Amino acid sequence: MTRQVLDIMNGEVVIPQNYINGKWVTSETEIFKDVFNPSKDEIIAKTPMSTSNETIQCIKAAKKAFERWRRTPAQTRIRYLYRIRDSFEENFEELSKILTIEQGKVIDESRGEYRRAIENIEIAASVPILQQGYNMEDIASGIDEMVIKQPLGVFFCVAPFNFPGMVPSWFWPYAIATGNTYIVKPSEQVPLSMTRQFELIEEAGLPRGVLNMMHGGAEVVNTLIESPDTIGMSFVGSTSVGELLYKKCGEFKKRAQVQGGAKNFITVMPDVDIKRTIPNLMTSFYGCTGQRCLSGAVLLAVGDVYEPLKIAVVDAAKKLTVGYGLDETNQMGPLASRNGYDKVLGYIQSGTDEGGDLILDGRDLKIPDYPNGYFIGPTIFDKVNPDMTIAREEIFGPVMSIIPVQDLDEAIDIIHNNPYGNASSLFTSSGKTAREYQYRVNAGNIGINVGIAAPIASFPFSGMKDSFLGDLHGQGRDSINFFTENKVVITRWF
Ligand code: NAD
Repeated sequence: MTRQVLDIMNGEVVIPQNYINGKWVTSETEIFKDVFNPSKDEIIAKTPMSTSNETIQCIKAAKKAFERWRRTPAQTRIRYLYRIRDSFEENFEELSKILTIEQGKVIDESRGEYRRAIENIEIAASVPILQQGYNMEDIASGIDEMVIKQPLGVFFCVAPFNFPGMVPSWFWPYAIATGNTYIVKPSEQVPLSMTRQFELIEEAGLPRGVLNMMHGGAEVVNTLIESPDTIGMSFVGSTSVGELLYKKCGEFKKRAQVQGGAKNFITVMPDVDIKRTIPNLMTSFYGCTGQRCLSGAVLLAVGDVYEPLKIAVVDAAKKLTVGYGLDETNQMGPLASRNGYDKVLGYIQSGTDEGGDLILDGRDLKIPDYPNGYFIGPTIFDKVNPDMTIAREEIFGPVMSIIPVQDLDEAIDIIHNNPYGNASSLFTSSGKTAREYQYRVNAGNIGINVGIAAPIASFPFSGMKDSFLGDLHGQGRDSINFFTENKVVITRWF
């Protein structure tokens, strides 16, 4: 049993291996990316930036494995998923801890992330029902027609840094359950969570080559897209990289689903119960340190609610406890990287430069036990103009921009003028207003009195406009359709 990742608990710097054709393989690369514990600014790992040559070997193994795997009955295929699921449950606390160490989110958020990862494995295990096709007798006299949902070959995912324990599970369980083989490319910034998962996956005894992992960056991804032996890509990350790769997938005739960046608007109506709304807003804006694609970014305060809401959010945000995520009492961790930290500081500066009223400044925060961590406290700008950079661009940090608006129409106009459309929430006590919001707002995940509209695994993780390219989303039935072809068979017997 391989346990390379657990060395980080003893303070060792880990160089994670690739998992190719059922074996752990040390990368041949000479280029590594340092991985930091973001609460301490200490190196905990070095990600090998694997080469094109290694990636081609991995694709070959996955292609070879497909021949037998697609002929393996679905009921047999899902038994491996049950084993992997049980193993993740047994190692739940350890997995959550590794996630917090490498990514920074507080331990309860890591547990929540693993809960959703496991849930995806559970839903994918429903393929004996979900992968069923359909048929019809006598489409012409004596002729029958049916659709069978067939697997296609080698798929891969390219994952972001913010949910390294969960995002790949939006894809690989569905891909292998439907009979495809798979390659996971974790974010080079956070390689350890997925590596530990693969150590557990190895114990489940999947046939060699069915599920593989390649560490690295653009060289690996480009090779995966350009290979004639891969079928499709699931990408989750920034819109700029996603657009680039979506075009490339088109050029190389690959299926693609691209879940991109976000700028999420949260609208609060004057008829709300402010006290019950505030905890939801805190989770939305400051949960995972604002590094969720579903995080609230702009608070649209409608009419009279503006003054009391502003006072209440500032009061609640000041009370959030920030610090090392392994300390159970903390509610918010650091930014996941020095780069992200500098980027958020840059946005706060731009907010003040462009005339925003900085009513809560998280830059002043000091965590005495972790003076080198990438900590920024909850930050709030008031009276933000929709044209300001902080109101338009994805900050990906704990920064709330408050925009007072007259009415719902003005709120929806502001939302629609932004290029992103990942999520949006409304807080109200009116069913009529709620219906209008879900009907009109162009965002893929809508929350009504729910601050983080995160779909459970049996529903698609949606997204619209610049937040999503493609037509089939991750999770649920969309995943089954993405990973299969509807083959039509028309039959006549003489
Ligand atoms: P990123 O775009 O920088 O990186 C994502 C992945 O792409 C990584 O695995 C990286 O190695 C790879 N990559 C980067 N540049 C590449 C290139 N030139 N060619 C090929 N591959 C390349 O994103 P990130 O910073 O890791 O993640 C944060 C972003 O992800 C945010 O914008 C966030 O909103 C988004 N996100 C979206 C969703 C969603 O469901 N819509 C979910 C989580 C995160």
